[in-house]
Amino acid sequence: MTRFLFPNFKKKALTFSYDDNNEQDRRLTCILRFHRLTGTFNINTGSFGEKRWIEHCGFYCEYNRVEEKEVKSLYNGFEIASHTVDHVILPEVDRYTFDYQVTADCKKIGQLCGTDAVGLAYPCGRYNNETAEHLKELDIHYARTIEDTHSFALPEDFLKWHPTCHDHDPRIGELADAFLNDNSDELKLFYIWGHAFEFDKNDSDRWADMDRLCKKLSGKEDIWYATNREICDYVTAARSVKELSGINNTGFDLFLEKDGEKIVWKNNKKL
Ligand SMILES: [Zn+2]
Repeated sequence: MTRFLFPNFKKKALTFSYDDNNEQDRRLTCILRFHRLTGTFNINTGSFGEKRWIEHCGFYCEYNRVEEKEVKSLYNGFEIASHTVDHVILPEVDRYTFDYQVTADCKKIGQLCGTDAVGLAYPCGRYNNETAEHLKELDIHYARTIEDTHSFALPEDFLKWHPTCHDHDPRIGELADAFLNDNSDELKLFYIWGHAFEFDKNDSDRWADMDRLCKKLSGKEDIWYATNREICDYVTAARSVKELSGINNTGFDLFLEKDGEKIVWKNNKKL
């Protein structure tokens, strides 16, 4: 039997996804970097420099947006993806607005950082089949929902990419243990999402909780620490292979296991 593994023959992948480019991302990126973790920040390029407070699930939180000039350095080492220009609810806008909100955001990210965004987190998690279909037409590779699965399964449809759980999910400790201890043969993805402004909520020491979680999940030989895009693009490439023969033209080195033997199928090379 032949099957694909993640890069470097890993069977586990961990990724993070944070929305809304709040100033609290400054502290969060430091924590992630300190633990050598990576992930994706979904930003609204129409919001830079805005300052306000919001009420979120019964808590008042400072909701200031980062400045345009700091974006490139702040998110260096992470993926920057789209959250639309103005945080619009995609299923509720007309087609012209939809196209503008997504494509202008992706392009602006490219101007700021050198790489156009190809992924997205649905503002307020709102989407439907038509929204997902339309994103595909705009060449968006993936879009994240807020429908927590509490599972480590890879998504069937990357344009409806359901995360494992929110970073403050009551089950996150149990899920982290299950992920770390799972030595089964299937590929496993632990996908954690949230908003950095929520770490300021004072129901517990959420910043310390996040630091502990990151410490626990970091530095493991068997985990691929990756951005959303890296995971989506690699898995999409592997899934596009119809036949395990001939030239690998996926654009990626593919890592395979064939009857227990580990094989790298180099890009542009024969198997
Ligand atoms: Zn948002």
